[in-house]
Amino acid sequence: MRDIALYHGDSHGWIEVITGVMFSGKSEELMRRVRRALIAKRRVQVFKSSLDDRYAGVGRISSHDGSGVDAVPVRSSLDVAEKAHRDTKVFAIDEVQFLDEGIVDVVSMLADRGARVIVAGTDTDFRGVPFGPIGTLLAVAESVDKLHAICVVCGNPATRNQRLVDGKPAPAEGPVIQVGGSESYEARCRGCHELPSISRQQTSLLDALEADPADPVILTHESLKRHA
Ligand SMILES: [Zn+2]
Repeated sequence: MRDIALYHGDSHGWIEVITGVMFSGKSEELMRRVRRALIAKRRVQVFKSSLDDRYAGVGRISSHDGSGVDAVPVRSSLDVAEKAHRDTKVFAIDEVQFLDEGIVDVVSMLADRGARVIVAGTDTDFRGVPFGPIGTLLAVAESVDKLHAICVVCGNPATRNQRLVDGKPAPAEGPVIQVGGSESYEARCRGCHELPSISRQQTSLLDALEADPADPVILTHESLKRHA
């Protein structure tokens, strides 16, 4: 993982996003940056959406190797705003996709007043749709790193979260967030991601894509030579 070479610290704030599928190492990367900020003797506050307690319970960000840093559980963007100290130089928020859209304004204001804000979160939900506030955060951030896992089906880079219920691909109509459900997740690539739909949406768009256009302009290597 590359270092944030552009960030020079105390006078100007900025926002970094670490995103990607589940199992792609986002929390590990967040912790790595937090540790480095602590070595640099910055004052750091770490938050974590309290919806997620898969590994170590609320109060700690853990990675799969069992290491961790202490984190304050938060339930909303207002929670983050209320707990943010004015003299904190580095803020880190894990599982940011579970927070409300207000988090975009909160992290922007923290950056505006000079803080470095690092947020980590899953980019898309099990349907492949941008998850909560993450899309807007990607747009306003100074730095974005998209991490990949490995597709458990074919071994290519994984970019999708496959929800399974009783070991079978879950239908698109399920809720985006299921806490304490019986479902499980796998990292998969676009080609191996399965999303059975009960009612097939966007039929006209699919029909348009599947029909051959009457007047296609298809560029090939030869097109370059014509304009050379
Ligand atoms: Zn695959």
